[in-house]
Amino acid sequence: MRASFDIGGQSVKPGHIEVINLPLPSLHSDTTVSMPVHVVHGRKDGPVLFISAAIHGDEINGVEIIRRILSMPSIKRLKGTLLAVPVVNIFGFNSHSRYLPDRRDLNRSFPGREEGSMAARLAHIFMSEIVCRADLGIDLHTAAIHRDNFPQIRADLKDEKLSVLARVFATPVLLHSAPPEGALRRAAADESVPVMVYEAGEALRFDEVSIRVGVTGVLNVMREMSMLPKPKNKKIKKAVLLRTSSWVRASMSGILRATVKLGDMVEEGDALGYISDPASNTDELLTASHSGIIIGRTNIPLVFEGEALFHIGRTRQTSLLEEHLDTLSHEEMLTPPELIEEPAIV
Ligand SMILES: [Zn+2]
Repeated sequence: MRASFDIGGQSVKPGHIEVINLPLPSLHSDTTVSMPVHVVHGRKDGPVLFISAAIHGDEINGVEIIRRILSMPSIKRLKGTLLAVPVVNIFGFNSHSRYLPDRRDLNRSFPGREEGSMAARLAHIFMSEIVCRADLGIDLHTAAIHRDNFPQIRADLKDEKLSVLARVFATPVLLHSAPPEGALRRAAADESVPVMVYEAGEALRFDEVSIRVGVTGVLNVMREMSMLPKPKNKKIKKAVLLRTSSWVRASMSGILRATVKLGDMVEEGDALGYISDPASNTDELLTASHSGIIIGRTNIPLVFEGEALFHIGRTRQTSLLEEHLDTLSHEEMLTPPELIEEPAIV
């Protein structure tokens, strides 16, 4: 018989699914606050995987991705243990904010400290109760407010285990990136726990395609880790690796009329949009600095000179990328058949 999983001073028996509430600092009103952790402790041995969302409190696509994963009937037959944390930054989530009440960015506060700032304490709780108990982590994000990201995985591909699993997640595109100081995935790597980041969609919005790609990706990783059975005859279309990426910035302050959307392929010199100002009404043409795919963009037309507007990723695997883009445009091809029939969010 497998041992129980101990977390937050409680014990979850094998074959059980429980919600453990980790206590956090309370509000000024003395209202208690806790971070719910869904613990799926399988009957059979296997790896421990954590999935986290809303570390930036306003990035909510991942909250829905986790809800869908937990609602799947097959999750009851999981091998190993799943720690799913739909809302890590409870405080920012409640105030529709990326940040914590102390104005810190939780994803720059890892690994944290027991006796540190509010952000450091929250980071410490997450590190000690979740990250350090896991073999792998998937951290779910969206672009920051007023920005949008094309579904992508970011991971340190020099890590052998991550390199395989990041490709299997099968987002259209995959970016190698070393994590910044204070980020969860940096602190986790220091504890030898590889973590990949899924980035898709906008803050404070649900995006059905981003959610479905995310759900399918998490399931692909769980199957690759043998936590769930692999479906027969199903070949995964692996992610396209981007060699580099760079931002096209606003050449002047003004009002942007974008002419490309996320996922569009552009050639060097192609028009991306026009910037005008209400005083002179002259147009400044914005062009692609290199050929590639639009993987991020601003959604707010009011721009400042120097502001990052379009994120273009470069790749040589153009035909594979086109296959991915074709899949994204067919909703039924994006639906994991394991999911209970649910109406799409529109
Ligand atoms: Zn984020």
